[in-house]
Amino acid sequence: MSKIRVLADHVANQIAAGEVVERPASVAKELVENSIDAGATRITIEIEAGGRRLLKVSDDGEGMVRDDAILAFERHATSKIRVTEDLTAIGTLGFRGEALASIASVAKVELITCTEGAKAATRVTIEGGRMRDVKDAAHPRGTTIIVRDLFFNIPARRKFLRSEATETYHLTNLVTHYALAHPEIAFTFVNNGREMVRATPAKDLRERAYQIFGEEFLENLLEVNGGETQVACVSGFVSAPRDRRTSRDSQFLFVNRRFVRDRMIGRSLSEAYRSILPHGVYPAALLFVETPLEEVDVNVHPAKTEVRFRRQAAVADAVREAVRAALASANYVQAQEQEQVYFDVPEVQEQVVTATAAVSSITPQPRIEFIPTPPPPMPPPIEPSGEEIARDIELMIQFAPQSVQSVQSAALPPLNSAEKFAREVTSETLSKNIRPLGQLDESFIIATDDEGLLLIDQHVAHERILFDKYRALEAERRSESQQLLVPETFDLTPAQAAVFDDLAPELENYGFELMRLSGRTVAIKATPADLPPSEARNMLAELLDTVDAEKKSTARETLRDEIAASLACHAAIKVNMPLAPEKMRWLIDRLLQTSSPTTCPHGRPVILRLKRKDILKGFHRI
Ligand code: ADP
Ligand code: MG
Repeated sequence: MSKIRVLADHVANQIAAGEVVERPASVAKELVENSIDAGATRITIEIEAGGRRLLKVSDDGEGMVRDDAILAFERHATSKIRVTEDLTAIGTLGFRGEALASIASVAKVELITCTEGAKAATRVTIEGGRMRDVKDAAHPRGTTIIVRDLFFNIPARRKFLRSEATETYHLTNLVTHYALAHPEIAFTFVNNGREMVRATPAKDLRERAYQIFGEEFLENLLEVNGGETQVACVSGFVSAPRDRRTSRDSQFLFVNRRFVRDRMIGRSLSEAYRSILPHGVYPAALLFVETPLEEVDVNVHPAKTEVRFRRQAAVADAVREAVRAALASANYVQAQEQEQVYFDVPEVQEQVVTATAAVSSITPQPRIEFIPTPPPPMPPPIEPSGEEIARDIELMIQFAPQSVQSVQSAALPPLNSAEKFAREVTSETLSKNIRPLGQLDESFIIATDDEGLLLIDQHVAHERILFDKYRALEAERRSESQQLLVPETFDLTPAQAAVFDDLAPELENYGFELMRLSGRTVAIKATPADLPPSEARNMLAELLDTVDAEKKSTARETLRDEIAASLACHAAIKVNMPLAPEKMRWLIDRLLQTSSPTTCPHGRPVILRLKRKDILKGFHRI
């Protein structure tokens, strides 16, 4: 007997739904794309319970006539392509004709739609893939689709949904993406009855970014404009190197105005920041790559979030060069020749360079002045005159600040090569008998212990002390706070607003006093005792951006650690800060009393040791 049979439509749709409908945000993505394809000028997205209970998208696009409204739910029903050739140049966001069929097979869907001048609108209800009802309704030109009880008929899938906060985060992120990609369209996003985004039609990306992220964010952005039409035009904004993120969450990447998760573009972006951002730190970016339609295949993934470029390497180059040019025009990277000079460190200085790596790689703060001397402009005379020495010094000072960063992270070998000199002090080899001698570059405490010479990173040491203190106070519910004379206000981005309510009570346990004002504005009324008020905003922004939406609901302890670590980092003394001998003594004594004196809350080493044995060896004494 034959064993192969053709699957019933509703089974096939549910299988397709597995690929298209991963979570509420993927439903929203398909619906919003349909609205954009329908020429909408206004799109409203409303959600309840993270989009599981309700997800509603309304637009004022061209709408559908009754027959189309019914047909739209058939598999492979699309108005966007007709013949195979159309696949080679897709100008619409949708084209597979399976989104509505897939969504309707795993939820309770209501569609109300009306075309221009039609006598009545049409309402179609469909549940778990079964058409329930079709009748007249009232609706202005455009379409509203309401998706209720996602995965109501597939309990296994429902189980995979994350917490409401996580799903809301993904939805917010999605709306932000589309709002950025289409400044000309008005977007409204309502979460549990609360308006999270309201963006009126904007004239360009800059204005739209301002509506969504606020003025402060925009001020720090550099404009990107590069590439070439035949391969890829690259435009948008990237952040200045001082504005750092620890995740890629602030990178919004688009190909032909389609929101994509493209590793290649992300990588090219990072490459552009090579030598000016440390490893593991990411820039914020709103980057639009425009290629001729036939240069890119968007049909490689059912959710269409991945694309394939015909000339991948050329596109990567275009992205990197465009971003690099933006950084260069703001003087963050130097002209090619100048870089060369500093990469080309003379051999005799190698030892010094290695030592620089040892020192500088334990902290990402790039402002360390212990750098190799740039090569003199001419061959040095046998006995340089006082004048020449003076000029050398002048040159050194002149070039020092810019050359630090490139020498540090681009031209130098990774820190392993320095290991033979100074090693991390581990808790087993830590001695209680540490005596401070002075400071190196006003950043590192030079000290001795019974085994040799120590370098203690003053910033991370203080970070560790404060981290332990904050955690202890929080555990005992004894936070100390300082009231601000004038409350600082702070504008949340939509994504930050989505996590804010969850995070606020935790922050208050640490001594923050926060008040949600109208819309997405927050007032900071009090800050934790040791935190300089000027750091409060930075810290809040960083936490709201990096705290993983997952962690909020699952591991409270992890979240509390993250807050304490961030607080400690912002409140701790910085590098490039002179310390009086008593201060150094105090810092070391307190460090030794902490739970883990040899590593900072972010896992970096606190103390390096140059052993006496190695010193003796270096001087050929043993
Ligand atoms: P696709 O977008 O790939 O064509 P969908 O299943 O998402 O497939 O939608 C099927 C069809 O329904 C679309 O091709 C379009 O003609 C119509 N449609 C869907 N949503 C809308 C909308 N919001 N406004 C007008 N037409 C729509
Ligand atoms: Mg579609």
